[in-house]
Amino acid sequence: MTDVLAVAEHRRGELRDVSYEIVTAGRELADALDGDLHLAVIAGNVDRFADDLDRPGVDTIYTLENGEEFDHNAYQSAVETLLARTDAGAVLMPNSVNGLDYAPALAESYDLPLVTDATGFAYDDGLTVTREMYGSKVETTVDVAGDRFALTIREGEWEATEGVGDAVIESVDADHPDSGARVQGFEEVAGGDVDISEADVLVSVGRGIGEEENLELVEELADALGATLSASRPIVDNGWLEKNRQVGQSGKVVTPTVYIAVGISGAVQHVAGMKGSETIVAINTDPNAPIFDIADYGIVGDLFDVVPELIAQFE
Ligand SMILES: Cc1cc2nc3c(=O)[nH]c(=O)nc-3n(C[C@H](O)[C@H](O)[C@H](O)COP(=O)(O)OP(=O)(O)OC[C@H]3O[C@@H](n4cnc5c(N)ncnc54)[C@H](O)[C@@H]3O)c2cc1C
Repeated sequence: MTDVLAVAEHRRGELRDVSYEIVTAGRELADALDGDLHLAVIAGNVDRFADDLDRPGVDTIYTLENGEEFDHNAYQSAVETLLARTDAGAVLMPNSVNGLDYAPALAESYDLPLVTDATGFAYDDGLTVTREMYGSKVETTVDVAGDRFALTIREGEWEATEGVGDAVIESVDADHPDSGARVQGFEEVAGGDVDISEADVLVSVGRGIGEEENLELVEELADALGATLSASRPIVDNGWLEKNRQVGQSGKVVTPTVYIAVGISGAVQHVAGMKGSETIVAINTDPNAPIFDIADYGIVGDLFDVVPELIAQFE
């Protein structure tokens, strides 16, 4: 029996969705290892997050108010404190900027094998982790011997756990060496108020739109639906939309309820960022476009005919 320790993530005063996804992944693993699931939330005023994190399947929630903002040392020593305190041998962290910052140091200091960017796993006497390589062109499996390991999980790959649990909530003090680094403040990138990863409905535009001035058409569709506008990489590379609207391997991972791909071919690097969407609608002139392989609804047609018709219908 080995317990699992999963680390939730918060940014700018709010829990991120991956915190609930990691509960699902953590519970799955804890069931396989016949252990408990402990969930940690670290740094800043985090006691207030405990009730939200109390989801079915979580046995214990540890809040550690050490540090003000994300800090490498604070996170590493908080997780080490919890590993020493619990029976946990398996640690799950989000594959985020923060998770990837301290996961390797933790793995090194605790002598744990580390597999990053997991998109799935199975446990049967040992852990087999699924991950993608070469720009999502190849799916690989990694075998990890034993029941002690660290994993970072890709955001959007596991369903979020909903509902209310009955976890024991405990506040823990953990000392950490001062790293000397301080967060001085946050600066929004231009257009940075839009977070496509949190949107419920996305209208996503690709190279099929042709010209920058045609973007108005998809903006109208997004308005008619109350949706957020996102894009494939060429649109961002052309400077037509801000980088924070890019979906994909080098953009953001999104999991909206509805994803409408307009003039997007469905390259692997794009699909890597949106395949977790609940319902995918694709509009494309090419019936052989790979986007149709993953679409729930496909419209083969010219977007300049189809989109105005959709706007009229929705309005
Ligand atoms: C390391 C690396 C990282 C990358 N990261 C990303 C990433 O994060 N996100 C990303 O999106 N890409 C990424 N790419 C680029 C990716 O490989 C593709 O080039 C890109 O996704 C293609 O964008 P697109 O589908 O808009 O354009 P295209 O592939 O050119 O597709 C345009 C589509 O529009 C259709 N079309 C044309 N005219 C019309 C019309 N009038 N009506 C309807 N349909 C029409 C065409 O049939 C075509 O299918 C990355 C590439 C690399 C190498």
